[in-house]
Amino acid sequence: MECGVCLNEYDSRNHVPTLLDCGHTLCRNCIEDLLSSEQKLCPIDRNPIGTRLVPNYELLSLLELRCQNPIRNLNENELKCKNGHFLACSEDFKAEYEGAGLMFKCKLCKREINDGWLCKFCVFPICDECKRWSTDTQEINDPGIVCVKNHKIRLTPNAEEWNSRIGRWKNGKFLCDTCLVKKTGASAQCRTCNFDMCADCLYKLRQVLSMVEYLICKNKHPLVWLPDFVTSRNKDFACNGCKKRFNKSGSFNCGLCRFDLCILCAESRIVKMRNSIHELL
Ligand SMILES: [Zn+2]
Ligand SMILES: [Zn+2]
Ligand SMILES: [Zn+2]
Ligand SMILES: [Zn+2]
Ligand SMILES: [Zn+2]
Ligand SMILES: [Zn+2]
Ligand SMILES: [Zn+2]
Ligand SMILES: [Zn+2]
Repeated sequence: MECGVCLNEYDSRNHVPTLLDCGHTLCRNCIEDLLSSEQKLCPIDRNPIGTRLVPNYELLSLLELRCQNPIRNLNENELKCKNGHFLACSEDFKAEYEGAGLMFKCKLCKREINDGWLCKFCVFPICDECKRWSTDTQEINDPGIVCVKNHKIRLTPNAEEWNSRIGRWKNGKFLCDTCLVKKTGASAQCRTCNFDMCADCLYKLRQVLSMVEYLICKNKHPLVWLPDFVTSRNKDFACNGCKKRFNKSGSFNCGLCRFDLCILCAESRIVKMRNSIHELL
């Protein structure tokens, strides 16, 4: 989306989309030029540009829909929204929008906030704690080790603290979505999806993925790791090994035979296989 006068893409700093009284939108810069001109008319319909110049919230919130996961666009300590805008630190979000009745909820923890980090253009706020999580924890870059929606995940110490903050688990533990065990300590998290993979599962998944070519179904087809299996078909699955149902975890899958293994069952097969190879040697 670009300003019809200067043809620059709208952004949060130099080209904030701003609404004129007549209903047209131009960037803030061009409007300031118009204000200092003699006629002060909208260049599109020649109506007076008016005095109540506010950002175009409709446009801002439309763009917000494209803006979901701030974590992917990290550049060292700089945080960007999905559209590539830098987030700026702000002590008063409402003042940034000139007092308009917008509500600001942290995109990650969903708490209501009025300070923290903001992409002003996309109305993309996150709180300071979530910002620090996004910049200070380690992103996992192994292929295939992602959340149920294929987002990158980050290794978070004390995952129980986050889970109690968002009210998901309040008993000082968190539920690992991939082994369904309540845990404390480190977890590989996607905070957009509230996805947790405990440190044990992370270790096991790495082991399995390094030998995944040895996994087969009962009819000897190779199994394929599908981290987004449940979200892509919108349905949970039952593991053919342990019979447990999983609604937020990937599957080692044979589509032909509808055969699924959870991470733990896949790992125990790999371990058995390794041991039998050792016995042969
Ligand atoms: Zn402009
Ligand atoms: Zn106009
Ligand atoms: Zn937050
Ligand atoms: Zn943005
Ligand atoms: Zn686990
Ligand atoms: Zn996710
Ligand atoms: Zn299983
Ligand atoms: Zn099969």
